Amino acid sequence: MPEPTNNNLIAHFVANIDQPEKPSIYTKDDEVISYGGLFSIASKYANAFVSLGVRPGDRIAVQIEKSPDALCLYLGCLMCGGVYLPLNNAYTPVEVSYFLSDAEPHIFISDPKDEALLADVCTKASVVHQLTLDQKGKGSLANITNEQAGEFDIIHRESGDLAAILYTSGTTGRSKGAMLTHGNLLSNTQALLDIWKITANDILLHALPIFHTHGLFVATSTSLLSGGAMVFLPKFDADELIRQLPRCTTLMGVPTFYSRLLSKPEFDRDLVVNMRLFISGSAPLSADTHNEFSKRTGHAILERYGMTETNMNTSNPYDGERRAGTVGFPLPGVELKITNPETAKELPKGETGIIEVRGPNVFAGYWRNAEKTAEELRVDGFFITGDMARIDEDGYISIVGRSKDLIISGGLNIYPAEVETVLDAMPEIAESAIIGVPDPDFGESVVAIIARREGKNISQAEIISEARQLLAKFKVPKRVIFIDALPRNTMGKIQKNQMREEYKDLFQQID
Ligand code: AMP
Repeated sequence: MPEPTNNNLIAHFVANIDQPEKPSIYTKDDEVISYGGLFSIASKYANAFVSLGVRPGDRIAVQIEKSPDALCLYLGCLMCGGVYLPLNNAYTPVEVSYFLSDAEPHIFISDPKDEALLADVCTKASVVHQLTLDQKGKGSLANITNEQAGEFDIIHRESGDLAAILYTSGTTGRSKGAMLTHGNLLSNTQALLDIWKITANDILLHALPIFHTHGLFVATSTSLLSGGAMVFLPKFDADELIRQLPRCTTLMGVPTFYSRLLSKPEFDRDLVVNMRLFISGSAPLSADTHNEFSKRTGHAILERYGMTETNMNTSNPYDGERRAGTVGFPLPGVELKITNPETAKELPKGETGIIEVRGPNVFAGYWRNAEKTAEELRVDGFFITGDMARIDEDGYISIVGRSKDLIISGGLNIYPAEVETVLDAMPEIAESAIIGVPDPDFGESVVAIIARREGKNISQAEIISEARQLLAKFKVPKRVIFIDALPRNTMGKIQKNQMREEYKDLFQQID
């Protein structure tokens, strides 16, 4: 099929539809939405937005539950040239207020139950229309949408035009709005289709949220551009995934999906006979989970690495060894180098430094924040990811942590991932997080936060003495704190900031 001349991402999805009756979405309740049906509903949203005065470049912000209608709203927003701004459902009105004041959307859509709560926030941010949509597709926006025609001429967009603003999860400082263009999203989707061999025959089990790059772009874009189908679940629920897996061929998940599936004895080989590919990302997948998964199912999980600002950067190979604890190789078209954080010089293989990436996947900068853009996006186009990593002899990339998580104790660098790997291998430990805590003597000292396996016991002294056998003394935790479970956000990322804050006075208090 010829490539459309319109660079609007949605024009590329639509251009691939050769059978409008082909299923695009299966819902949890076994409803089927065809490709024709999906784009007819999306067109109604696009017409509704135009009738509400949306012009190309205007922002449409949403804080709504995941549903097929929410997906059509997103498609409709891009079809009419709007810039989509999805917000995590967990954000409080105070947080929403910051995002709306920063982005000044023309329209804000929330669940009807939050309408009154967010009215003042909308007024303060000069939102022109505050509307609602619930998980069943009902609300004041639906009332307008239902009146609209189911056809729409997709607005012409250039590759560099904005498609979305996604606020970074803000684990370090205030959230910034990453500006993603139609060209960013299309090029990355094409690269992923190619390397993961996604086709119209695939059925993706979609259980990720759609306010984040993983569920919104990686998952839905690859499915829609390939002409495949999605089983579109409102949220992750291990039992529901087990029910749906037999009819699916691919799953994209965060590591927690895989550890939770493994905790179910009924999750076995028979359940995944139709599965072709399990993909993991957004947080590190432990080698334990990778290995246990292989043993249980016969499938090697394919781990990839990306971020809001860059879309996907690297992936383990489809054919070839998917190496546990690594994120594989750069995607086609993505240039990646490891640099010295102080000198910005490229480092040789085997040395640890910061990952920098350049390519059509890299975002256009932070919304209305030239200062932060200049700090993180070099003039030559390389983006400083803030992830520390090294490349091994075979070219596989291993992430060892965020640069902001790097601990410097007595002038020596400690990469948390190295210590965490040693601790996680102890049979009594379920999971661990290593943080640096201010120490009057050393600048920072290593502290281990540990969740023990159920029914298992291990003391601070035992952990320290075992770790001493394997790690240089300066890397061994000075203190061990036991908690029930590590704090995580919805994407499975461990909240080290929160722990650093909680334990910041540890050495001041005791010593
Ligand atoms: P976000 O912008 O919310 O998608 O977060 C991006 C960050 O998640 C990256 O900068 C990494 O620190 C982390 N991340 C994503 N994928 C992986 C992975 N496979 N392994 C380790 N960290 C990852």
